[in-house]
Amino acid sequence: MAEHESLEFGKADFVLMDNVSLEEFMANLKLRFEKGRIYTYIGEVVVSVNPYRAMNIYGRDTIEQYKGRELYERPPHLFAIADAAYKAMKRRNKDTCIVISGESGAGKTEASKYIMQYIAAITNPGQRAEVERVKNMLLKSNCVLEAFGNAKTNRNDNSSRFGKYMDINFDFKGDPIGGHINNYLLEKSRVIFQQEGERSFHSFYQVCVSVYSSIDDGVDFKAVADAMKVIGFTADELQTVYKVLATILHLGNLTFGVDGDTTLIENSKVVAVIGDLLATKEENVEKALLYRTVATGRDVIDKQHTAQEASYGRDALAKAMYERMFCWIVGRINDVIEVKDYDAKVHGKNTVIGVLDIYGFEIFQNNSFEQFCINYCNEKLQQLFIQLVLRQEQEEYQREGIPWKHIDFFNNQIIVDLVELQHKGIFSVLDEACMNVGKVTDEVFLQGLNSKLANHVHYTSRKLSPTDKSLEFDRDFRIRHYAGNVVEFNALHYVMWPEGKLRITEVTKRPLTAATLFKNSMIALVENLACKEPYYVRCIKPNDVKSPLLFEHERCRHQVEYLGLLENVRVRRAGFANRQEYPRFLQRYKMISEFTWPNHDLPSEKEAVKKLVQGCGFEHDVAYGKTKVFIRTPRTLFCLEEQRTEM
Ligand code: ATP
Ligand code: MG
Repeated sequence: MAEHESLEFGKADFVLMDNVSLEEFMANLKLRFEKGRIYTYIGEVVVSVNPYRAMNIYGRDTIEQYKGRELYERPPHLFAIADAAYKAMKRRNKDTCIVISGESGAGKTEASKYIMQYIAAITNPGQRAEVERVKNMLLKSNCVLEAFGNAKTNRNDNSSRFGKYMDINFDFKGDPIGGHINNYLLEKSRVIFQQEGERSFHSFYQVCVSVYSSIDDGVDFKAVADAMKVIGFTADELQTVYKVLATILHLGNLTFGVDGDTTLIENSKVVAVIGDLLATKEENVEKALLYRTVATGRDVIDKQHTAQEASYGRDALAKAMYERMFCWIVGRINDVIEVKDYDAKVHGKNTVIGVLDIYGFEIFQNNSFEQFCINYCNEKLQQLFIQLVLRQEQEEYQREGIPWKHIDFFNNQIIVDLVELQHKGIFSVLDEACMNVGKVTDEVFLQGLNSKLANHVHYTSRKLSPTDKSLEFDRDFRIRHYAGNVVEFNALHYVMWPEGKLRITEVTKRPLTAATLFKNSMIALVENLACKEPYYVRCIKPNDVKSPLLFEHERCRHQVEYLGLLENVRVRRAGFANRQEYPRFLQRYKMISEFTWPNHDLPSEKEAVKKLVQGCGFEHDVAYGKTKVFIRTPRTLFCLEEQRTEM
C-alpha cells in the first residue's frame, strides 16, 4: 500500500478497491493512466501501463526517494520492487528474481532496463573500480543484445525477438560482481522473411547505415560498436561480426536457375563477394549452396539440389549463421561478466537477482513454430505465477504463524500439459513425426495430433471441427491458450531440423529437435525461477497505435483478464491486504496513540502495536504474526493513514 496519494490519482493499490470487480479495476487503471500514474500495485506486484511518452520519474532524485524504503512508503514504482528484491537479497540472503511479463510493446524491456539502472545506482557506494567495471558491462550488454536480437515489428519499433534471463551476482557487501545471460529461442526466421511494415534485426540496418528509416541506425551503430568494445570484443571480433552480417545480406541476393540438368547460381559476382567475406574459394561457396551430402548405404555422395532446394538451403544457412552469431555474442558477453571462481572464493557469499524479460503472447493470422514456443513459454510462466503468488502468501502466513484459507485461481496446467506431456503432448507428437527423416510431413504430424488429442478441450483441428471457419486450411490446428484467444499453427516441421553440426556420416545419432531443446530450456528456466523469491511486473499495452493519450478499454480489459490480475487482487485481499514489521508500523503510526507517542514503555514493539491497535478499535481486523502485524481490510489502513495526516 503506497504512500497515501491523493485520490484524484486513483487507488495506488488495487487491493484498496471498494468492490473487487472488473469495472472498478478498469476504471482505476484508466484514471491512473490518464493522470500519468503508470504504476499501480497489487500488493507487491507492480502493474505497469506503457505511457508511450518520456516520463520524468527515473532520475537520480527519484532513485534517492526509493532507496531503502518500504513498498508502501512511496507511490508505486518499479524502483520500489527493485529495492524490495534487493533488500530481500541483501538482508535475508535470498536469491530473488523479477519476472516481467506482458505482450509485445507493453514495456517489458524498458522496465528491465530501469530496474537494472536502479540496482546499478544504489550499489557500490565505495566506488570500487572492479564493481564499477562490472556494472558498466552489465548495462552495456543491453545495447548490444538489442542491436542483434531486436527488430521493428508492427507492434513495437524495438521488439525483442528473443527471450532473456539475466542473473546479477552480488557479493557479501551487496555489490554486483558479475552476471550471466541466458537467451531463449531467437526468432531467426526474421532473417529471411518479415511481414509487411516490419524489419529484420537492427544490426543489419546498422551496418548498412540506412539513413532513411525512422530509427537512427547510424547513431546506434556507433553506440553498439562502442558498447562491444567496452565489453571486450576485439577489433578482429567486430570485423568478423560485420562480415557475417554482410555475408547474410549477400546470401539474400543470390538466386538460382537451371540449365538442362544443372542447377546454377544466377549472380556469380555475389558468390565472389561471399567467398571474399568468408575467406574461402568461390568453388567452395558454390558447392555448399548447390549440393548436399547424402549417405547411401556405405557411400557418401554429393547430390545436386534443385533450384528450389538450393534456395531453401540458402535461407537455412542465413538463419543458422545469424543464430550462431547471436549465441556466440551472448557467450562472449558471459565470458567477461561471469563471476570467476576466484571472486567467489574471495567474497565467500554470492547471491543473485535474476531479471526475466521474455516475449509475451503473440497471435498472428498464421502462427508458426516460433509463436508456438513463445506462447507455450507464457503458459509456463503463468503457471509459475499462480503457484508462486499463492505459495508466497501461504508461506508468509506459515512463517508468521497465521492461519491460511485456500483461494481458487484459474489453473492453466491443463494447457501446459497439452503441450509438454510425455507421449501425448504436442511436443512429443512432433518429435515422433520427426523420427522419419525425409517422410515427415504436416499430415503425419497432424494425424498424430488428431489421434492423441481429439478429446482435449483446448485442442482442435480442421478435421475435428470441419465447420469451424477460423481453421482455413487442412493442415491448421488450434490451441486455446489461457489468454483466451484462439491460435492456429501450421507448417511446423520445416523448422524442426537443427542445422549446422550434424555430419551426414553420423546420421544415426539424431540430435534433439528444436522443440525438445526449447521445452527443456523452459523447464530449466521455470525450475530456476521457482527456487527464487519472485517479484512481478505485469505490463499492459494501452493501445495499438503507440499513443500516450489513448486507453483502449477493450484491449486493456483483455490483458487484465488473461494476466489474471483480478484473481491476484482477490487472493491478496482474501488474506491480509497489508503487513508491516512491528518497528516500521510503530514508526509510522505512533503519533496516533497516547500509549506510543512519543515513546512507549511496553516490553516489546509487538506489545506497543497491540496497544495502539486496541486504542483505535480495529482489533478484529488484524492478526499478530511473529515479526509483522497483518491488516485484513484496506479500509483500516485508510483510517490509520487519515488519522496520521490529521495529526
Ligand atoms: P516486446 O515483447 O516486443 O519486446 P516490450 O514489452 O519489451 O515488447 P518495450 O520495447 O519495452 O516493449 O516498449 C515498447 C516501447 O514503448 C518503447 O520503445 C518505448 O517507446 C515505449 N515505452 C515502454 N515503456 C516506457 C516507459 N516506461 N516510459 C516511456 N516509454 C516507454
Ligand atoms: Mg522487449
